[in-house]
Amino acid sequence: MRLRDLPSVDELARTVDDPLAVDAARAVLARAREAIGAGGDPGDLEALLRAELRAARAPRLRRVLNATGILVHTNLGRAPLAEHALERVVEAARGYSNLEYDLADGRRGSRQDHVAAALRRLTGAEAALVVNNNAAAVLLALAALAEGREVIVSRGELIEIGDGFRIPDVLTRSGARLREVGTTNRTRAADYERAAGPETGALLRVHQSNFRVVGFTEQPTVAELAEVARRHGVPLVDDLGSGVLVALEGEPSARDSLAAGAELVCFSGDKLLGGPQAGIVVGRAELVERLRRHPLQRAVRADKLTLAALEGTLALYLDPARAGREVPVLRMLGEPAGSVRARAAGLAAAVGGEVEETVARVGGGALPLAEIASYACAVEEELAAPLREGEPPVVGIVRDGRLLLDCRTLGDDEVEEVAAAVASAREARATAGAEPGRPAAAPGEAHPTSSPLRS
Ligand SMILES: *Cc1c(COP(=O)(O)O)cnc(C)c1O
Repeated sequence: MRLRDLPSVDELARTVDDPLAVDAARAVLARAREAIGAGGDPGDLEALLRAELRAARAPRLRRVLNATGILVHTNLGRAPLAEHALERVVEAARGYSNLEYDLADGRRGSRQDHVAAALRRLTGAEAALVVNNNAAAVLLALAALAEGREVIVSRGELIEIGDGFRIPDVLTRSGARLREVGTTNRTRAADYERAAGPETGALLRVHQSNFRVVGFTEQPTVAELAEVARRHGVPLVDDLGSGVLVALEGEPSARDSLAAGAELVCFSGDKLLGGPQAGIVVGRAELVERLRRHPLQRAVRADKLTLAALEGTLALYLDPARAGREVPVLRMLGEPAGSVRARAAGLAAAVGGEVEETVARVGGGALPLAEIASYACAVEEELAAPLREGEPPVVGIVRDGRLLLDCRTLGDDEVEEVAAAVASAREARATAGAEPGRPAAAPGEAHPTSSPLRS
């Protein structure tokens, strides 16, 4: 076919009755011109138009099979929700709800009431508040407690949380001034003590969630910082990052932090807690109330779907053994390596791959050094791109010329789907070369699958 043989956009669009036809025809013809320019054949234009229209209507935000071995993968939507949490979301979303309505009194109620009791019980706090995410929680805490005043924070804790967003930049938007103390590797309670004065609004501790400083290091304990804060009559705010509600070696819990004297503790809902995106603030009632009344609170409050999912997740934690079984992040974290290996062996047998020992990670800014024994099914690297573009998409890790499909982050019920996806990906590659205008993925191309995790 030559360029001048191509139909016009309108001619091609008229072959279907669809309000999106003109835009789709334009896209199909642009690709056809490219294919002809490259000496290829543009293919069946009407079939391509129908495919283009199907693609235009297909959902963009889709389920993905996570074969990276990174449990809380920020790029892949962090924590999957427990069934029980999903049920709460569907019920709250389908019709009306008592979101801000007190059914006993027949009057306005608070959206916070639905989760506050569970959060108090699980952390030992006097009061709790849920906002949109943890960055918002810290922002709100500093705005409410230290606007126009100084917040003392260690230089070793001014972290970047991912995608170029840095804690200090978020914090200064609160209207508080950051007063940095100590050095990258060593900060002592005495550094905070020296900096504290009439200008001080709060002391802030930020958990080194996504990195560790090793070697010649020193950090004050929460109890030591709380002592300094008390002497100066200001609150200690502790940003934990990933709030775990179960005992987990190396990851601080809100309960421990409050018990050690922090007056407000902030953490995410969708990291190791395994719930929806949310920022949770727990602590002294009088301080939580100041946050609740601050104008910014209205701008960062959690929506009803989040609150429903969080209530459903927290309900599981009231029975810790149940949380371990039913909260997906905890279940994946706790699964014995032997059963991960069995899953990898099943997948390898189904696709003709090899079982490979790997290291899974928590991700999402928690336990950055923790290596979790895991197993993957290794297949040819060239499948990385077609697997990402398949249905459902499968995302693995490219390493040493092979694609590793880590089975710690896959469920038993997903193995068959992955096996089918591998078969289709091989087929897609076999036909890609022959398909007009569509080059086969170049081997060794840079895959997003091998990019580092963002938290
Ligand atoms: C992840 C993280 C945040 C940001 O939490 P989001 O819920 O993603 O807003 C803030 N502080 C620390 C220490 C974190 O690890």
